[in-house]
Amino acid sequence: MKQLIILSGKGGTGKTSLAAAFAHLAHDGPAPIQAVLADGDVDAANLELVLRPQRLETHDFTGGAVAVIDPELCQGCGTCEQVCRFEAIISDPNSFVYRVDPIACDGCAACVYQCPEEAIHMQPNTAGQWYRSESLYGPLFHADLYPAQENSGKLVTLVKQNARLLAMDTDKPLVIVDGPPGIGCPVIAAAAGADLALIVTEPSAAGIHDLKRALQTTSHFRIPSLVVINKADIYPEGAAQIQAICAELGVEVIGSIPFDPTVTAAMMNGVPVTAYHPQSPASRAIGMIWQKVVKSLAFEAANP
Ligand code: SF4
Ligand code: SF4
Repeated sequence: MKQLIILSGKGGTGKTSLAAAFAHLAHDGPAPIQAVLADGDVDAANLELVLRPQRLETHDFTGGAVAVIDPELCQGCGTCEQVCRFEAIISDPNSFVYRVDPIACDGCAACVYQCPEEAIHMQPNTAGQWYRSESLYGPLFHADLYPAQENSGKLVTLVKQNARLLAMDTDKPLVIVDGPPGIGCPVIAAAAGADLALIVTEPSAAGIHDLKRALQTTSHFRIPSLVVINKADIYPEGAAQIQAICAELGVEVIGSIPFDPTVTAAMMNGVPVTAYHPQSPASRAIGMIWQKVVKSLAFEAANP
């Protein structure tokens, strides 16, 4: 079983459109490959919007714990407020009522140990939900992290692990992960164990900057990487610059996708662009890119 992760240094580079198109091509392309899909962008999960799956399972994601004060036991001594370095204890000076702001609480439990009345306990915090769904193109694992919650790396790992386990249990040879944007902890969680990273970039100053950072991340974790330039024709000089940078770093640019309004239209209609308009310029380019990805993953399907 192989893991392909699609990354971009930042959001909005067409990463999810490409992941959805790959899901379609893997399922309905000339040499089908059964794949399990995972949306690793738990802060803004969009793959669901394009694949329109049916949710089969919903699970709570417990990310850490928050302190809770029992008002029956609290004597209002104020020790917890002094101990808390995150200013998460809120007091009312008139009534000596103390409570915890669950958003500010870091879960360090310092207050629990210092409270002389044993009035504070830690309560598991439901930080989001994760789902198993079924799309037209295969099973999809995805998640929503609630606002102001941390631990997105842990939730990404959970989503990916479940996709991997299902792929192994059902003999599916490929997991396609739509990775989170950026280069932080969630990206590292999503990329861990990947056999191939496909980095989507755009020919802009920000795109080039973020591409370099994404390549540094994949290089650090020794993940073989390929690059795709989206909207390459909008700024050919920038695209040439990306080609030069990648050549210098020894990273192959396996294709360019032209600007094509069909991509947005497909997104708006909740259909992968390659299914929405198979002969559009973007779909044809993505089809060729997919063939190269399949070949890089060393599937026999690449050589029918
Ligand atoms: S340390 Fe315990 S008793 Fe003192 S104010 Fe905090 S919760 Fe109340
Ligand atoms: S658990 Fe830590 S962060 Fe949360 S209220 Fe207690 S001392 Fe503050």
